[in-house]
Amino acid sequence: MAAEHAGVHYERRKQVAVVTMNRPDYRNAQNSAMTYALDDAFYRACEDDEVKVIVLAGAGKHFSAGHDIGSPERDVDVSFPRRAGLWWDHTRHRGGESRFAREQEVYLGMCRRWREMPKPAIASVQGACVAGGLMLAWVCDLIVASEDAFFADPVVRMGIPGVEYFAHPWMLGPRIAKEFLFTGKRMSAQRAYEVGMVNRVVPRDELADTTMTLADEIAEMPGFGLALAKKAINQAEDLMGLHSGMDSAFGLHHFAHAHNAEVGEDSLSGMDARSMKQAAQERE
Ligand code: ZN
Repeated sequence: MAAEHAGVHYERRKQVAVVTMNRPDYRNAQNSAMTYALDDAFYRACEDDEVKVIVLAGAGKHFSAGHDIGSPERDVDVSFPRRAGLWWDHTRHRGGESRFAREQEVYLGMCRRWREMPKPAIASVQGACVAGGLMLAWVCDLIVASEDAFFADPVVRMGIPGVEYFAHPWMLGPRIAKEFLFTGKRMSAQRAYEVGMVNRVVPRDELADTTMTLADEIAEMPGFGLALAKKAINQAEDLMGLHSGMDSAFGLHHFAHAHNAEVGEDSLSGMDARSMKQAAQERE
């Protein structure tokens, strides 16, 4: 009952679908191929009536280092059939139009689509959960973290006010979210627990078991009840401004990309995976 598809492993264990990002050599950096493979996996889990709960995990030492801005399989210029929305193919366009259409689809659109899966999802997080990696953890309903997990959104270093799925103020509270963005520094699993962003912190070697135990426990509840409870909380978050706040931040995000491209060499302010890592290490 296991399958491998473009860097994503799918497996069903009793009533739980375990979706595992499987690009450990690149710290599970998310390219578009992986995004669509994740979407396939989530679609499959939602379609399977035997599945009650979905677990999202990352193979290797890290959950996810974020969007792929440096691996050999980086595929920002590749066309994929759109699935999250009906924005046109970004590869036929240039500049802000291309970026906006692409990010609307593969980042904001996909994350919103996954947040609305009618089954509870649990992120099982170890090591790095950085920038685009945060988006994947945040769309899950619960987060179980190992003691070595850390969370960061360092994209302000690129002049960009946070990742595309701008849930920071709702995940962390406004003041902590500002500190998180302004410093770009790592937040430990323990701190993330204290501010209410994660549900459990466990030793690294207990992460998988704790996540599965929690998933199995939730799977005992009626599926429709779970779906409605999830929707009720998500609606409450939206009433607290998450959906519209995210739309307005997405506009600022794209203004920043465009500004970078206008005054500098590219929309990421000339930064790539290596320079971002180097800058982070100098700060730690
Ligand atoms: Zn972006």
